[in-house]
Amino acid sequence: MAGILSGQVALVTGGSRGIGRAVSVKLAELGAYVYINYNSGQGAAEETLAACKAKDGQGEIIGFSVGDSAAVSASIDQILKKSGRIDILVNNAGISKDGLLMRMKDEDWAQTLNTNLSGAFYCARAVSRSMMKARSGRIINMSSITAEMGNAGQAAYVASKAGLIGLTKSMARELAPRLITVNALTPGFIETEMTGALTEETKQSYMTQIPMERFGTAAEVANLVAFLASPESAYITGQVIGINGGMYM
Ligand code: NAP
Repeated sequence: MAGILSGQVALVTGGSRGIGRAVSVKLAELGAYVYINYNSGQGAAEETLAACKAKDGQGEIIGFSVGDSAAVSASIDQILKKSGRIDILVNNAGISKDGLLMRMKDEDWAQTLNTNLSGAFYCARAVSRSMMKARSGRIINMSSITAEMGNAGQAAYVASKAGLIGLTKSMARELAPRLITVNALTPGFIETEMTGALTEETKQSYMTQIPMERFGTAAEVANLVAFLASPESAYITGQVIGINGGMYM
């Protein structure tokens, strides 16, 4: 696959840490010029860029909140002006504000939906015109296994991730005639800062549900993203693809 994305331009939202960092590095390693988006973690985004360069990749960092529609439009316009195209959009940025339904605050619900679901919509809308003109493109949305299984204490997160699946399928139908594919990934338990915040007890209880008896790595998710971003996945669209060690099948 070396060089398979040469000449292509990718935007990875939430590329500063975790899965987004691994995805940025992988796409850069395969030859794409990668725009690494971050919200608050500029230093972490710079570390991601350094990791891309260490693999002979190229890219730059770009700060904006995916939940800010105007900032998304302005930033994507800026990329299009500079690079002339965006071939690959990975809607990876996400937050989780966990808590029981009866105690969940309106602002936590709204912020989660705004970042995880509206953010993906804002970014996809902003790249779609240039992808449609180019008659090619790849949009990959980072959903979650919890969208398929539900999860107590994560109503807002799960609703946002399930919404992302509906958004994926609708966009896939709309954009397929222009040869743009749109797919969703539903990772299970992947070792990142997001899951690092869970207690040992919670982690062990997840572990008992995973037939492969281990958690996944961000690099494993990145490999799947790389395939979906490549020309080799041209006939795959509107799909929800699990990567979960068998936790949900
Ligand atoms: P993470 O380590 O917490 O990283 C989250 C990333 O999202 C950071 O780069 C963060 O950037 C960015 N972000 C948050 N709010 C943003 C905003 N408003 N605008 C732009 N960027 C924003 O999370 P992760 O575990 O790598 O997860 C990445 C994605 O995979 C998320 O969508 C998550 O829901 C999904 N996922 C993860 C797992 C898992 O087990 N880890 C499982 C299923 C799905 P800043 O630091 O700059 O704010």
